Amino acid sequence: NNIVVAIDGYSSCGKSTLAKALAKKLHFIYVDSGAMYRAVALYFIRNNVDTKNHDQVAGALKNIHLNFHSRDYQTHITLNDEEVSAEIRQMPVSDKVSEVAAIKEVRKEMVRQQQRMGKSKNVVMDGRDIGTVVFPHAQLKLFMTADPKVRAERRYKELQSTNPDITLEDVFENLAHRDYADTTREESPLTRAEDAIVLDNTNLTPEQQLQLAVDLVKP
Ligand code: C5P
Repeated sequence: NNIVVAIDGYSSCGKSTLAKALAKKLHFIYVDSGAMYRAVALYFIRNNVDTKNHDQVAGALKNIHLNFHSRDYQTHITLNDEEVSAEIRQMPVSDKVSEVAAIKEVRKEMVRQQQRMGKSKNVVMDGRDIGTVVFPHAQLKLFMTADPKVRAERRYKELQSTNPDITLEDVFENLAHRDYADTTREESPLTRAEDAIVLDNTNLTPEQQLQLAVDLVKP
């Protein structure tokens, strides 16, 4: 049987950093589920899809084809064969993604694709609903948190080189907004699975987090 590690938590808690490192160490496939919602949000922005119009949403979903290309455990995602990995990290997408991810039809389709990816292969998948909805029977579930100020500072440092105009305040506000939207939405709100292990990494180095996770996967 294949092994699934589910990593959920708030925005910018270091989920993807840990997920990538863990996948690399264990030779598992890494799936960044947030990148899928981001790519869908990018399509909605580009095509002016009205998130409240069911026909438009359904039509858009039919026209969206996502693909992951794993290279060095980095996320490379294509939207209808166009590489969009960099563009989906920009602020316009970050500001829109939680609204798009709250749409029932969008979630249904993403969950279906995610379940297919973890069906026969060993995977580490990070997101918001992986341990609760996508893989409720995952062998290991981690729920990551960290101090919101520390999270904003980490993300700010990451974004600065590509977004020279961005301020720490913009980043802090975007994180707060997404956490609020993600935890209060009707459809699969972000919540800790009962059997998830909480990992607060405010004061942990990436190496310490990796060691903790590796020890948990190997009983
Ligand atoms: O992981 P990342 O921060 O890139 O995800 C972007 C957004 O996508 C989240 O703020 C959330 O609204 C949505 N998302 C989700 N369910 C997932 C992964 C991401 O709703 N499994």
